[in-house]
Amino acid sequence: RAEIGSADCVTIPETVGGRTWTVAYCPPVGGASLVERWQSLFVLVLGLLVTGVTAAYIRALSNQRARAANISADLAQLIDTANAPIFGIDVEGKINEWNQAAAHLTGYGKDETMGHDLVKDFITDDYKAPVKEVLDKALRGEETSNYEFPLYTKAGERIDVLLNSTTRRDVAGTIVGVIGIGQDITARKLAEAQVIQAAKLATLGEMATSVAHELNQPLNVIRMAAGNVLRKLEKGKADKTYLNDKLERIASQTERAAAIIDHMRMFGRKADEKPHELDPCDAVKGALDLMGEQLRLSQIEVVTDLSKTCRPVLGHQLQMEQVILNLLTNARDAIQGNPADGGGKITLAVGDGGDNMVRITVSDTGGGIPEKALNRIFEPFFTTKEMGKGTGLGLSVSYGIIRDMGGTIEAENADGGAKFTITLPVAGKGAEKEKSDAL
Ligand code: ADP
Repeated sequence: RAEIGSADCVTIPETVGGRTWTVAYCPPVGGASLVERWQSLFVLVLGLLVTGVTAAYIRALSNQRARAANISADLAQLIDTANAPIFGIDVEGKINEWNQAAAHLTGYGKDETMGHDLVKDFITDDYKAPVKEVLDKALRGEETSNYEFPLYTKAGERIDVLLNSTTRRDVAGTIVGVIGIGQDITARKLAEAQVIQAAKLATLGEMATSVAHELNQPLNVIRMAAGNVLRKLEKGKADKTYLNDKLERIASQTERAAAIIDHMRMFGRKADEKPHELDPCDAVKGALDLMGEQLRLSQIEVVTDLSKTCRPVLGHQLQMEQVILNLLTNARDAIQGNPADGGGKITLAVGDGGDNMVRITVSDTGGGIPEKALNRIFEPFFTTKEMGKGTGLGLSVSYGIIRDMGGTIEAENADGGAKFTITLPVAGKGAEKEKSDAL
């Protein structure tokens, strides 16, 4: 013990039972050294510091977690209440997201869709393969373009949907599924179909003269054949072979006239919903059947360069014909408005566009498209023709038809006239053949 009264002791006077005592609090003799005291203090301060920092870290972490949970809840709510139908699929194609708009649009509730195979259970047979292809592409992390397809609601009603699909990844960047955002384009498709129909009827009206010329030719042949037969009969010179020959000619010309009328009737009809494989060369021939004679009578030379092995494209034959007719009508108008030396010429070519594409070109010698109109000609209602002559719909409708077929249509000026180039993807077996040829 330290001596009472030494500097290490603290003395406190205490009065107990009327007597005053002096209590000395002294450190033990040979107690902790100064270094040891500093060490303990250091350990104590360090301990307090570590505890404080750990507590702050845990607090920050739980705040961050709460914020992340809030953001995730906000996003989930945003997806759920978004105005557009949104769905998600996992890597196996099973639905794991189905928002209210998707449920409202399709009539299938979340509980009826979650965990189901999207393509197998909800896409119509005809579109299973292409929709799966789009989703698989997104699942491989490849960029996909928007895809249009029809969807049947629970009540059996058809709706047209434009689908945009995006790859979904986790924080490590691993692909975990696809998020699809749809757009109900039923009303737009209907309006487009009505515009196409209206433009087609306008083309039909335009073609009336052309068809009249077209029909005149077989009628003339029939009239001449009948007249000749009558004269021969009058002279008593009509033998059996002669009559046979003339009647056969009359019959074949009636067939030709009937074919032209049939074509007109078909052309006026609305297109089927479903696109088919069609031969673009047939579409060019079909358009020339309706307009060729009129072009000939207008002294316009028509040159065709049709590939011998025309590969098929996917679309509607009549709509394809409508596009060619629009281009022919424009070429005719340009030539007639700007007669070149030696008359005008229209060249139609169908051939290989490379990279699994078919290329159709229509060129004329009508002086070309005015420079300042070049980037506006595909706009609806844009026309440089006089009132009553042009509707400004021909090219915009053609653009829509070609776009729906997955292709492109472009215009340029070349060789004293305009040149329109249509590029369309080869359909079905034709495309497969190209692939195997390339291997
Ligand atoms: P429309 O023929 O009723 O005017 P289109 O949409 O078919 O409507 O064409 C739009 C415009 O594009 C035409 O008014 C014309 O100015 C221009 N155009 C189209 N084809 C040709 C062409 N072959 N040569 C020159 N100009 C053309």
